Amino acid sequence: MLDSLFGFIEASPSPYHAAAAAADRLATTGCAETGRSDSWSELDIAQGFVVRDGGTMAAVRAGTAVDPERLRFSVIGAHTDSPNLRLRPQPDTSTLGYRQLGVEVYGGVLLNSWLDRDLGLSGRVTVASEATEAVADASAGPADALVEPTAHLPSGNEPDGSPATVLWRCDRALLRVPQLAIHLDREVNDGLKLNRQQHMTPVWGLGEPSSDGFREFLAAELAVEPDAVLAWDVMAHDLTPPARLGRDGEMYAAGRIDNLASCHAAVEALAALDAVPDDTAAVIVLFDHEEIGSDSATGAGSPILADALERIAAALGASREQYLRAVARSLCVSADGAHAVHPNYPERHEPQHLPLLNGGPVVKTNVNVRYATDAHTHARFIAACAAAGVPYQIYSHRGDLPCGSTIGPITASRLGMSVVDVGSPQLSMHSARELGGSDDPAMLTAALGAFLAVG
Ligand code: ZN
Repeated sequence: MLDSLFGFIEASPSPYHAAAAAADRLATTGCAETGRSDSWSELDIAQGFVVRDGGTMAAVRAGTAVDPERLRFSVIGAHTDSPNLRLRPQPDTSTLGYRQLGVEVYGGVLLNSWLDRDLGLSGRVTVASEATEAVADASAGPADALVEPTAHLPSGNEPDGSPATVLWRCDRALLRVPQLAIHLDREVNDGLKLNRQQHMTPVWGLGEPSSDGFREFLAAELAVEPDAVLAWDVMAHDLTPPARLGRDGEMYAAGRIDNLASCHAAVEALAALDAVPDDTAAVIVLFDHEEIGSDSATGAGSPILADALERIAAALGASREQYLRAVARSLCVSADGAHAVHPNYPERHEPQHLPLLNGGPVVKTNVNVRYATDAHTHARFIAACAAAGVPYQIYSHRGDLPCGSTIGPITASRLGMSVVDVGSPQLSMHSARELGGSDDPAMLTAALGAFLAVG
């Protein structure tokens, strides 16, 4: 399971790549891929299908016998995005003989963790339509895997000459945010202060840049003319591959454990499902934009999940009344990273709630509903852990620290659906390189699988 997770993390330097990697994995189990703007009424939902829009994807498989009167959803939600550094639209800058690229900080980044790392770039690029063929020829993969679906346009109804959006990644060491030598800041170890505008700008060469150097680089990468590169959503990723860690390899280190570990567990749980229970639609949804509050066209704050569930219900023959009743009897497991207790900072944790690496999935609770767990959903999830034969742990945040949140409360409030917040324990959350327990991915996958199998 850990090798499979490592492969997924390496395939997913950006949310767009994560959504595509998840869809590709489910395609191997027979799931068809469709678009938000396509009709879903003719799809074989028992066989399963995937829908993808940018960095968000959803997949569904229904039982072979679904009575619309008794329909319910078993939903697993997670998120594809991670805090990182993202390129500005006019990134080229130079200072004192260095070529640099301007970046913005995305989400709650531990800024120090991005210093002195060799960084690649990845994301999606929109190119003029006449250049699409050249991009496909220049890419290693097949054209249909590279070109993103135009989910915001009516399918088959795009105006001639519409630009195409393609996935792109470069795993060469292109960038670095160099740290200041200790000789030039003798107090640095008393508390490092980093200004997001001034201190986080990566270097990527020497000499005077052309005013459009990044566009020219991207054009060369995609084998198109610079004028054909219209716009991009591009971000940095640490090039260090995931690795087992510790004397006996009992831990692992990687970028984007939060929250690709949960995405991977959700995908593998659905892929491994022998049969979906009757009257049940098993759904996984991996949202973009959780790290910045989920308010976007493809975030958990959008109607994307509610619309998908309603359309699935309709395709299964349910009326709107039957759909609303199905939501009322459904459960969503919101899977996201949980804080393991930190050995060097025990005072930062609630003394009665100290999750351990390799201790099994963590149920997260918060009376102010920063996590959406309640007694009933809590009990449902620990029943799934028991069915899977895995232990579970419980997290509650210290009273004198503000608590983080997840897509759980957002999903609960948008849909009026019961939600339980869970996740694997980890250290270094929001670092460029996080730390997890090597046994936890398999345990989370087993618990999510049991949840889908029981309904
Ligand atoms: Zn997260």
